[in-house]
Amino acid sequence: MDENLKTAKNCRHYAMCKIDFLGSGVCSSGLKKHFVSFYPQGRMILYEALAENKIPVTEKCVEIADSCDLCGKCDYQCYFVNELRPTKVMAALKNHIENFVQNGGEIKPAKEDAILTEIRKIVGDEWATNDEGITVTYSHDLSAISEPKMPDYVVMPNTKEEIASLVKLFKKNNIPYTMRGNGQNLMGFAVHEGAIMDLNRMKTIEFDEKNWMVKVGPGVAAFDLQKQARKRGYRINAGEPAALVCANIMCSGIMSTFSTTYGINADNFINAEFVDSTGSFFNLNETFSPNLYSYKNLEHKNSPGICVSADIRLHPVTEDERGILVPFETLNNALDFIKDCSVRHIGLALGVVGVEYISTFLSPTKKMASDIKNIFAEKLNIPWLAVVIGDKYAIRTISEMGFPFFDERLFKALYLGLPSLKNAQWLELVKELSDDEPYSYLKIKSFAELFETALSPSAKSYAQEVDKDLSPFFEKLFSRPEMTDILWLNTFRIMSARVGRKKPFLPALLYLPVDKELINEFCNKFRLIGEKYHIDNDFGFITPIDNGKRCIFEYDFFYDYNDPDEIQRVRQVGMDANMLIDEYSVKTGVVKGHPYVLYQGFCRKENLLYS
Ligand SMILES: Cc1cc2nc3c(=O)[nH]c(=O)nc-3n(C[C@H](O)[C@H](O)[C@H](O)COP(=O)(O)OP(=O)(O)OC[C@H]3O[C@@H](n4cnc5c(N)ncnc54)[C@H](O)[C@@H]3O)c2cc1C
Ligand code: SF4
Repeated sequence: MDENLKTAKNCRHYAMCKIDFLGSGVCSSGLKKHFVSFYPQGRMILYEALAENKIPVTEKCVEIADSCDLCGKCDYQCYFVNELRPTKVMAALKNHIENFVQNGGEIKPAKEDAILTEIRKIVGDEWATNDEGITVTYSHDLSAISEPKMPDYVVMPNTKEEIASLVKLFKKNNIPYTMRGNGQNLMGFAVHEGAIMDLNRMKTIEFDEKNWMVKVGPGVAAFDLQKQARKRGYRINAGEPAALVCANIMCSGIMSTFSTTYGINADNFINAEFVDSTGSFFNLNETFSPNLYSYKNLEHKNSPGICVSADIRLHPVTEDERGILVPFETLNNALDFIKDCSVRHIGLALGVVGVEYISTFLSPTKKMASDIKNIFAEKLNIPWLAVVIGDKYAIRTISEMGFPFFDERLFKALYLGLPSLKNAQWLELVKELSDDEPYSYLKIKSFAELFETALSPSAKSYAQEVDKDLSPFFEKLFSRPEMTDILWLNTFRIMSARVGRKKPFLPALLYLPVDKELINEFCNKFRLIGEKYHIDNDFGFITPIDNGKRCIFEYDFFYDYNDPDEIQRVRQVGMDANMLIDEYSVKTGVVKGHPYVLYQGFCRKENLLYS
């Protein structure tokens, strides 16, 4: 397979090229045209479809290819997350179309039909199409469990009234419709036949600071909202930065390490407005509105409607907040720690990650992630880390509790010193410095200087690890303070999408008590399921919620999307993992499976966790 096609087929579709998370700008044609087709994410699918003759060259294909000015911004973003270079694919797409036209190829004109005419009357000509050049870019994601489906229409409404009129039109004509945020749900939920309503034009953000809330349209991405909130001195509880906020609540309920304090599901919003399946409006504060606060376990519910706005809670931020990393030799010790902190209300955000996440998140490349994974686990003896965000009182308390930790200075040294860590001979000495107490070297006053001398951390050496032509950009990027600030990185979560860099992943997600025995049992059983089907697997993360009474636990299975055999095997893994979670759900009465949260993301946390 040629390299460009290989890159295109490996686009992860997490939509990180649709947000300006590096401050280097976003694809200008995407910002102007809004359809995903005009972003690198869409052009990757389009190139694949044309290269494999899945669609003819249409008018929109030409427009999409022409609109790319090969600025290269997507290379920065996509390399940061996935180590992919979309610009070459964009160039190949342009070449493909140019050659086709030069060789006298016939461009398929768009064909109006009666339904499209009606849709266009509602949203305007520009914002609805049945051109395959566009529809194909909405036809699949990298989900292991869904099949590609070609929609008949893609529509981009701009108001809730337009959405209501579209719903009525589709209902009258028996046309199935599916909402699309940024399409990164990992399960193929935003892929369907019929009409796709892409909500990305509806980006209104209205702050109501007196009432500690912000009203967002269904096209607002978490990163953009967090940025606006931060400018005003607040924080929102945000999941993936490219996920649209309304879609995230709708789909799974928002969860993050800050869920320890800010909660999950209904904790995250004050009210929300919907268009129901008849095209009527309702909001959650009406006496007779559907009860979206309820939760049904072991049942898949249908979508209650289209969320057209949500009033998201704003949280106060203090100036003394910072982040630390607390190392642990065993998962059990890390669990004891986060549970204790959560029960005692110490810290704002808490989470436990294993070496897979630690090495993947910190490394600029796959190779380095695999090189340092063993160093963390074996040489530094840090197989587990607890991430804590807290104010100065929380951090002081953790110090008084006697836990050694990497503070911001040590974290920066560790992060930008990773290239030296790979080859460091002195790591054995670190263990010796610890006496009988693990990691006690972190408490030695002069350790920070020693550590910095040994690792010579610098943005320059860190940037040497990436493709040569990208080094200058990465050097500048990593010279920016926020890029090595645990607090900023957790607030904006720009590194979490790296979890799928090596391979796309299928998460097993569950809510359960912070019970060491139960969690270890799940880890072992998930591992055995992965091994049974020869699928790479690893511990993801654990975050305590609701004062340590429960936690969110993710275990990940990794697969090659382009290997049909592996897809079949990971589907088996998904089924076995879900059966296991269901079995424990019934057996224990305290385990809840995340798959059932789809379309129940508005439910009360209490109904989800305890009923
Ligand atoms: C790397 C990675 C990490 C992730 N980590 C987290 C995490 O930590 N926390 C977390 O909460 N999630 C996480 N997720 C899950 C993901 O962020 C959510 O599924 C989110 O909903 C995706 O947002 P989206 O805009 O891409 O939605 P889409 O994928 O476009 O849509 C999701 C679903 O919602 C429906 N939908 C979209 N908008 C609306 C609307 N306005 N009204 C009605 N229905 C709608 C769609 O039809 C679809 O069924 C992660 C995903 C990835 C890829
Ligand atoms: S893999 Fe790259 S091109 Fe594809 S969605 Fe992610 S950032 Fe965009």
